[in-house]
Amino acid sequence: MNRETTVSAEGPSYDNHIGGRTVPARSGRRFTATNPTTGRAWGSFADSGAADIDDAVQAATDALNGAWSALSASRRGRLLMAWGEAIAAEAETIARLETQQNGKLLAEMRAQATVIRDWLYYFGGLADKIEGRVIPLERKSVLNYTLREPLGVVGVIVPWNSPTFLTLMSVAPALAAGNTVVVKPSEVTSASAFELARLAEAAGIPPGVFNVVSGLREAGEALVDHPGVAKIAFTGSEGGGRAIAARAGSRLASVTLELGGKSPNIVFADAPVENAVAGLLAGIFAAAGQTCVAGSRAYVHASLYDEVLDRLHRRAREIRLGDPLQPGTQMGPAATQAQLQKNLSMVQRAVDEGASVLYGGKRAELPGFEQGFFFEPTIVHGLAGDNSLIQEEVFGPVLAVSRFTEDDEVVAQANSTRFGLAAGVWTKDLRRAHTMARRLQAGTVWINTYRAMAFNSPFGGYKDSGIGRVNGMEAIEQFLQTKSVWCELSEEIQDPFVLKV
Ligand code: NAD
Repeated sequence: MNRETTVSAEGPSYDNHIGGRTVPARSGRRFTATNPTTGRAWGSFADSGAADIDDAVQAATDALNGAWSALSASRRGRLLMAWGEAIAAEAETIARLETQQNGKLLAEMRAQATVIRDWLYYFGGLADKIEGRVIPLERKSVLNYTLREPLGVVGVIVPWNSPTFLTLMSVAPALAAGNTVVVKPSEVTSASAFELARLAEAAGIPPGVFNVVSGLREAGEALVDHPGVAKIAFTGSEGGGRAIAARAGSRLASVTLELGGKSPNIVFADAPVENAVAGLLAGIFAAAGQTCVAGSRAYVHASLYDEVLDRLHRRAREIRLGDPLQPGTQMGPAATQAQLQKNLSMVQRAVDEGASVLYGGKRAELPGFEQGFFFEPTIVHGLAGDNSLIQEEVFGPVLAVSRFTEDDEVVAQANSTRFGLAAGVWTKDLRRAHTMARRLQAGTVWINTYRAMAFNSPFGGYKDSGIGRVNGMEAIEQFLQTKSVWCELSEEIQDPFVLKV
């Protein structure tokens, strides 16, 4: 990230989107991102601070009390659906912007910008199904019912790995529930959020409902600290989540946290081997390991260990690294120089702690992309249970492979980290599959598949992988509060000093 006031960079230039207007940061400062494929500066963005966040929260508050709450819930839902259509229609534009900032395959970014329409349909459809209850009280003359109301202005802070997808996973339920939002995109991938803002208003969503303020960590901190923000929906690193939860907690604002993982992918002796190997590969090398649910720990039963390791090795060697904009490429670069360094240093540390590298572990040299942040698909084995590669998230294409013999042993190994985002189980035995699903400490368990997700199936972390859920009915609950209304229907005088038995 380069902070400067005069910039020379490839790619577009964006200012903040506040209350339907395009405005520069009040300080006039800007920053540039970097294209990880070329290593060159790309895009120029407003480097915002507390004053800009304040403007955005004001605009969101005005919309909350004005145009947004004036709409019926059904109309609100329809607007979200229209927004979904508009985004899908421009999926190619959005995907190209994202690939040039995070280096992930164009095909994946395009698929995400298309499929997110289903999320906006689902949550748009839920908008007019938010209902209260009538409570049958002991005292029959009282009508007691609940109202489900929005929280207010929600601050949405997102990472760089799937910008549009993750932004809308929080924003769709927040808006469906009647809140308004201020989004602080990742400084690595700020561009597409501004395109979403343009498309929101083109679809008829009132100005001020969806505001975007770009900036570095300070902008995120200002959003967390702002007294006008009722809730923070954060997706990002464990460290970021801890810092944000503490800050928000100090002023009693609520949070949902979608954090990192160290997900186990377990291959039992009776696994469908071909599928399991495909699942292990997809779990860690798709998206260059830059996915929160990366299956970064493979546990393979001793009877299959040599065969599976050999297959993984052969397949890893064949992965085509290259320009993520090109259709033939299978793995792009790390998204940032810092992520590349982290990949390198974590593999070195694992080796220092006694593990061995079977394949990869180095920066990849690609002709024509000498300055790109490419890193080889990497397989490490011979790891002790306390090796840092077993315990810490890399967020890169680094697979730690271990062997096991007993079910109890692998459950203990799988549950041995502080994370609990996801887990994979490969077996043909129905009883074992569902027993494992119960015993694994993870918010998602995949049986004979990996990295699947749906708008209507709740997703989130156990343990240090997060608080709360996105997707499904649970997601909308995170953005509502309940009011209990009591109405005495009898005309009986209720004198507090006259005791009735
Ligand atoms: P990050 O925590 O560094 O940054 C995420 C966002 O938070 C950015 O916009 C950043 O500017 C902001 N931020 C960081 N620290 C902050 C603070 N103290 N106060 C306010 N704002 C702050 O994460 P990243 O490197 O962009 O993303 C990678 C991480 O995200 C990985 O750990 C990955 O597992 C996680 N992730 C989780 C999910 C999930 O759904 N569970 C999905 C994708 C990514």
